Amino acid sequence: MALHDITQAPFITEICEAASQLWSYGWAERNGGNISYRLPSEEVKQYLDVTHVKRKEALNFTIESLAGEIFLVTGSGKYFKHLHRNPAANLALIRVTEDGQYYELLWGLEGGDLPTSELASHLECHRVRLAQDPQHRVILHTHATAISAMTFIHELEDKKFTKTLWQMITECLVVFPDGVAVLPWMVAGTQQLGKKSAEKMKDTRIVIWAHHGIMGAGQTIDDAFGLVETAEKAAAIYLQICSTRQAIRQSITDQQLWELADAFQVTPREGILAPREVGHE
Ligand SMILES: [Zn+2]
Repeated sequence: MALHDITQAPFITEICEAASQLWSYGWAERNGGNISYRLPSEEVKQYLDVTHVKRKEALNFTIESLAGEIFLVTGSGKYFKHLHRNPAANLALIRVTEDGQYYELLWGLEGGDLPTSELASHLECHRVRLAQDPQHRVILHTHATAISAMTFIHELEDKKFTKTLWQMITECLVVFPDGVAVLPWMVAGTQQLGKKSAEKMKDTRIVIWAHHGIMGAGQTIDDAFGLVETAEKAAAIYLQICSTRQAIRQSITDQQLWELADAFQVTPREGILAPREVGHE
């Protein structure tokens, strides 16, 4: 079977478009941000001889549950604003080996570079999200401005942070009923950050890294991007309110959030809203 041109593959176009958009939002300065996209082998086979391995590198950790999985990932040090100009130099298609200790480079990184320095975080999060949702495919990390700013003035506690965001825009509860998780500041690119992020991803698809950025998980790039966009918009509203130095006079109440959850048939993460008022059960 003749192979199609991989640079025309929808997954390449999608990741390049997302990277450009993230940069245009101001969330991907310099080489900030990284994306990984799990691809079915059948899809990749239309564009590539998957038996041909360009090189094999140690992961420095073991992730057996992802054995054989193929990921399209952004390269380390690559600028999102330039991604679309040369996908083969800026992206990598990697496959986790059967023992879960190495990755094989199938395509990309033509300059000999490495995949994203946050690969540990990405793979750990994929492992956890896949256990929750077999349709899970994307992990997206970006330096969302308002979310990062909010981590300087808001308590870094999952439930309190979630409730503040839910109260900022009516749709937030509907878009992320599982809420958000917040991690204290940690050194970027470490296995510890990966492990802690993955632990949080058991219960939520949005993990905020204090004074750094945000990580979103989704079934598609649009899904993960949409989560991040929504949380970021809510954070921007929060900051605008704070900047007025006025006391909040009215807000969406817990009771109203329950009504919203009922109307959109979502289940708010437990322990965030006050119990429903009597008579509204
Ligand atoms: Zn980052």
